[in-house]
Amino acid sequence: MNILVGTAGAPISSQQRTTFSGIKRVKELGLDAMEVEFTHGVRMGKETARELGEHRSKYGIALSVHGPYYINLNSKEAKKIKDSEERIIASAERAALFGGNKVVFHPGFYSGKNEQEAMTMFHRELDSLVQEVEQKRLNVHLAPETMGKPSQFGSLEELVTLCQQLPELRLTFDFAHIFAREQGKADFHKSFAYIEDCLGKAFLKDMHMHFSGIEFGPKGERRHLVIDDPGNKLKLEQITEVLKAFDVEGTLICESPNIEEDALKMKKLLE
Ligand SMILES: [Zn+2]
Repeated sequence: MNILVGTAGAPISSQQRTTFSGIKRVKELGLDAMEVEFTHGVRMGKETARELGEHRSKYGIALSVHGPYYINLNSKEAKKIKDSEERIIASAERAALFGGNKVVFHPGFYSGKNEQEAMTMFHRELDSLVQEVEQKRLNVHLAPETMGKPSQFGSLEELVTLCQQLPELRLTFDFAHIFAREQGKADFHKSFAYIEDCLGKAFLKDMHMHFSGIEFGPKGERRHLVIDDPGNKLKLEQITEVLKAFDVEGTLICESPNIEEDALKMKKLLE
């Protein structure tokens, strides 16, 4: 099984909490990957992105990008949709420069529309974004994330359907979000069987995934927890078992508050 395990952003124990320092620390810790966090905005220049690419190659660490939180491809306001498109493309351009191959983002909200209307809108938006990525010859895949609250667009079924319609699109499978969205009753075996059925075995050989402990309520996700938090019911074994059962390959990013600690636990369990 070939799964790269990494941290969401620079490890806490990095000398400085910068992307450059983080890559070095990821290597020292024996981890394989890091997600570059543009969650509060794309503030990295293109020259820096190029340098980051060299730095990353030197250490042999796989990178991905998490785009800004302020994205809603189904906003009622045209300006907000346009800003969202620009943020996704800016993230993709940086990722292409430093050799990050997945661009993760939260697709948006239903904004008062029913599921079908929302699907139509997300399809239209993602189709045009995927085309723009291709036209610009950015060698990256857009990978919208499964979301933890039922009010957010991004159930596994919705994202799988969009991936069926748009072959260049990928998705980010967030174990904690799916667990929270389904009130702790998520059946990951069923989820992976569903992905395999709809998108084929090859799709499971290039998966992008997130995990962490999670607290949830009736409205879904509340906050991320460390795996050993007494309030967390999502066990690492639930994740590793399904990954082994389906012989999944790809990248698994830890988003627990103690990022590298839970990532290292996961790495050990997968070996
Ligand atoms: Zn996210």
